[in-house]
Amino acid sequence: MDNILFDNHIHTNYSFDSKEKPETYVLKAIENSYQEITFTNHNDLYPANFKTAKLDWQTEYDVPAYTMEDYQNEAEEIHMLNEKYKGKLVIKHGIELGLNVECMDYFETIAKESKYDFILGSIHNPWNMQVDDIYQHDPFTVHNMYFTTMRDSVKAMIKEVDVLSHFDFILRYGPTDEYKTLDFPKFKDIIAETLEITIQNGKGLELNTKLITSTDKNYPHPIPQIMALYKDLGGEILTYGSDSHRIDQFADSNRKLTIDYAKSHGFTSLCTYKDHQPIHHKL
Ligand SMILES: [Zn+2]
Ligand SMILES: [Zn+2]
Repeated sequence: MDNILFDNHIHTNYSFDSKEKPETYVLKAIENSYQEITFTNHNDLYPANFKTAKLDWQTEYDVPAYTMEDYQNEAEEIHMLNEKYKGKLVIKHGIELGLNVECMDYFETIAKESKYDFILGSIHNPWNMQVDDIYQHDPFTVHNMYFTTMRDSVKAMIKEVDVLSHFDFILRYGPTDEYKTLDFPKFKDIIAETLEITIQNGKGLELNTKLITSTDKNYPHPIPQIMALYKDLGGEILTYGSDSHRIDQFADSNRKLTIDYAKSHGFTSLCTYKDHQPIHHKL
């Protein structure tokens, strides 16, 4: 029986880049016999516009960045949905934190003042650069910016998160194929260092299917070489996330492909989280 009927990375209208209502996902999850979903809305912080402002590319969405007030409202809505659909689906409250070592104080505030079930850590804007500026550089420089930001953020902040989301996010976008293909041997050491810190701290990686839908690749984040390295270094914790921003991206055929991908790299389980502890579900 397929017992991997969960999704631990979903965006709703609490994210600046999604308009989807939480209940829309709940209904589709129940329709597809899911056991659990986790809403993980964006909270990206940048020193120049700390807490409430937004980046230029976000201005097409007329909402401010995620605040503690959003947290309270979202918590209440999730509580209401859990009551309404009791016995049919478990709905968890997570967040996707944009890791930024210059905003450490705010991360500590979040940890103290909120009660998230699950915390994803992501790098969306290496070196605090906006997407259009990043791609002014050549592919090697872009990949180097990204993986050094990831390594330095993980070194400083791994304790603040449960799982690293889309570990090789930078391969998802870019003006040409060179930006979407990693010269892996050149980055193996820095990636290994990052993964070792992650594993030593009992944290995990996410299998994120957005890479499949955004490129012509037939596997999720992270790429096969990173999966193999993670396994070799003793990595065991993997979660599943569709990274849906719209309902048509949720509960699609990429789930089956992702399970096969995990198995093909020797992984025997996928995890959900309770109280920031992984629960393994056998594949
Ligand atoms: Zn993300
Ligand atoms: Zn996301």
